[in-house]
Parts: sequence; C-alpha cells; structure tokens
Amino acid sequence: MYVKLTGRVLVNLHDLNNEASIGTFTDIRKMKIIDTEGALREVISVSGNMLKHWHSIYVKRLLEGNDNFCSYCAREEAWRLPQNDSRLTEVKETKLKGGNLFIAGERKLLNTCAIEDIHGFLSPDPDLTIKRESRVRFSWLVPVEETEEEALSTAVHNRVAKVTGAGTEIPQQMFFYKQYASGIYSVTASIDLGRIGISDYTSKLVEGLKDEVVKRRRRCTIEAFIPIMGGEMGASLSRSLPIAKPVEIVIALSNYPGLPNVVSAFYKDYRQVNLALMNSVAKVSNSDIHLIFAPPMEGTQNISANLKLYNETDMVSAIRKALELI
Ligand SMILES: [Zn+2]
Repeated sequence: MYVKLTGRVLVNLHDLNNEASIGTFTDIRKMKIIDTEGALREVISVSGNMLKHWHSIYVKRLLEGNDNFCSYCAREEAWRLPQNDSRLTEVKETKLKGGNLFIAGERKLLNTCAIEDIHGFLSPDPDLTIKRESRVRFSWLVPVEETEEEALSTAVHNRVAKVTGAGTEIPQQMFFYKQYASGIYSVTASIDLGRIGISDYTSKLVEGLKDEVVKRRRRCTIEAFIPIMGGEMGASLSRSLPIAKPVEIVIALSNYPGLPNVVSAFYKDYRQVNLALMNSVAKVSNSDIHLIFAPPMEGTQNISANLKLYNETDMVSAIRKALELI
C-alpha cells in the first residue's frame, strides 16, 4: 500500500525552525519558492528534516512497549549510525560462517530498531556499507499560496541569573531577540507503507519480523501524523508551542506502485486538482485508489469506478479512515 498525504495547518506564533543566531538575535528560517503565477517569494519555512525527526519520535512513542529500538532512537536522538555500531560489528564477526553480509546487517538493524525500518539508515562502515531508503518522505512546511502578508514578529526575552562576587549576589540579565511567525502552512508526505518490514535486498519480509510487528509499525507510521498535523513538530516547543489548528487534509491510498504524490496543499486549488489527478490515475492504472477529503469535497460526479471517495469532517477522522483502509 502506498499512502500520499497533504494538509494545511493554521500555526500561530511558532518558532519551529531557527536559522542562526547573530549576537543576541535569532533568525527564523526562510526559503525561496515560486508560486503558480511564477512569482519568486521568500517564505518562512520548516525543513522536511525537522518534520521527519518529529515523525520518528511519535512513531517511537506509539510503538513503545511493543517493539525494539536502538540506543539512539530509544533516546529520541536522530543520529546517523556510527561507523562502529555494535550491531554491525557483531554481524561482521559472523562473516566466517558464510551468508550474505548485507542481508544479515539489514536483518540485524530491522529486528533491533523499528525506526531504522521505517525511517531508513546509512551505515558509514567501510567494511559493511549498507543503506535503506526511508519509507516516509516529507516536504518542507511553507505558508499556503494565498498568503499575502508575512506575519512575523520579534519578541525581546530576558534571561536572568545571579552571579556571586565579593560575598554578595549580583543579579545579571541578558536580553535576546527571537522571531515568531504565524500563518496557514502546508505539508506533504509520501509513505511506502507496504515496504515497511520488507528487505531492500530480497524484496521479502525480513527474517525474524513477525507479521503482527510489521502491521503495528505500518499502523503507527500513519497514526504519527495526528500529532504532526497538530503542530507539535519543531523547535522551541517548550516556550512557543504553536497555537495550532488543523484545517484541511487529503489522503490518497493505493496498491498501485505508480501512485503519484498528491498535489501539495500549498496550491490554492489543490483539492480539485487532486480529485482530477487521482481520477485520471485510477483510469490509467485500472487500480483502486482511495481518496479521503476533510472537510468534505463537493462536485464529485463523473468519477472513475476505481476511485473510491471518502468525505470526513476533520483531520483525525480522515486519518482514522486511512487506518481502516491500510
Ligand atoms: Zn534506531
């Protein structure tokens, strides 16, 4: 099953992705994009890397108690595999016993860490360089196309400390400046759900993984989008937890390997475009495509018999429907 998802979230007063600090001033991240009219814009953005990191944290929390994690993922640290990962060292030590070292390495990592299975890995070990493509891919988070004005404010914060000197305590304070942004943001993700638990080397279920474990990993991969779409997905959450509200979501699901990405919720007409796109893909592929809209989509006549439409009221209902269909 392939799952493609795009959505809009109203995020007020966030600092989800800092760029850099210059002195006491911390800049918010901005990137350049082109809109439908071809105009160049510089917009406040949150990297796909940041979203991927938070998604891995929620998957781990959802699976906790029912699955295995390596020491890094157990601590929710998005570290790359080190060159001397003890699990791969163990695999290399069995070299003399024969068998394919790559398959053995992949089997070891996937059995010992659910996150390595879902989010992929790259081992830099020169004697055992193995990699796995992430089963979940994220776009950047950017303000939707209709956004006319940048809502960006700078706040002055005050850090206070007491310094002891000459037998007395002297209060000291340091001012620093941070930027906070508000807007309706879009995000898109592509999930190769059916490839979770499947070997990149044999295209079969990885030895040692039980069906129920793989099913749970697939389910939690989708479920983790509920907190992500709730806006808890970046930096500075302890002091500027986004004042967030999910607005819209579109999810496409199919077993058709050529299922394209949904058109991003960045574009103002993305709901109609996705209906037309998936209708055409259903006809070309002659495969069933499930398309979920929240809030409900109108004007859905003349659609292919292979396109199954679901109208849901809100983001969580849409994700619940996707979980029923996987
Ligand atoms: Zn791990």
